[in-house]
Amino acid sequence: MKGLRRLAPAKRLRRMHDQLARAYGPQHWWPAKTAFEVILGAYLTQNTAWKSVELSLDNLRNAGALNLDALRTLALEDLKQLIRPSGFHTRKAPALKAFIAMLDAEFAGSLDALAATPAEPLRRRLMALPGVGPETADAILLYAFKHPVPVADEYLRRIAERHRLLTPAPKGNRMGYESLVHLTREAFAADAAEDHAQLFNEFHALTVAVGKSHCGRTANCTNCPLISDLQNISL
Ligand code: SF4
Repeated sequence: MKGLRRLAPAKRLRRMHDQLARAYGPQHWWPAKTAFEVILGAYLTQNTAWKSVELSLDNLRNAGALNLDALRTLALEDLKQLIRPSGFHTRKAPALKAFIAMLDAEFAGSLDALAATPAEPLRRRLMALPGVGPETADAILLYAFKHPVPVADEYLRRIAERHRLLTPAPKGNRMGYESLVHLTREAFAADAAEDHAQLFNEFHALTVAVGKSHCGRTANCTNCPLISDLQNISL
């Protein structure tokens, strides 16, 4: 047990991935049929539970607006109303319109052309858009475009802090986010590079699964698949 305590944080995180994979199995993320639906979901899920996002996506589907062409011509006020269930609709609707404006002006309206942009410049471009922080940009890169980019969310931050994998950073701190991304990259560095997109896909989905079941605002460690790691650092 003492040996485990001396394991580097990245190695422990890799083991935690394996424990979660054994406990929960394949997660089959992202819950969307097209790259554009992933992008919509990545915007709409900000500060909102996925169930609320589904209501907005249902509204868009029922209005025939769950595709790029329809959303391009949809009036801003109509878009606000359709996505109202997922909250912050007065901010998210213009942000979605800004994404489409950028796509049309710089990529001839082509998601394929956007997807073909290398990950780093694409990440910078997305983060220069209104309403796009690193988590949204990384979710789009990974789940819409299959770039090998980790996504670090609030659940992963909680797990990393509670397991003392990282020094706690103030909430919303950009360096805190980038440290989590760096730690995740390190955790999977020994895996084949061509597997990284799928590993990052599963890892993020698994951390959401354990976050929802056990590691929310209050930690419910009983029967959590990660309890052995926590017990080892407490010894
Ligand atoms: S619930 Fe407890 S054991 Fe599970 S991930 Fe959170 S802190 Fe770790």
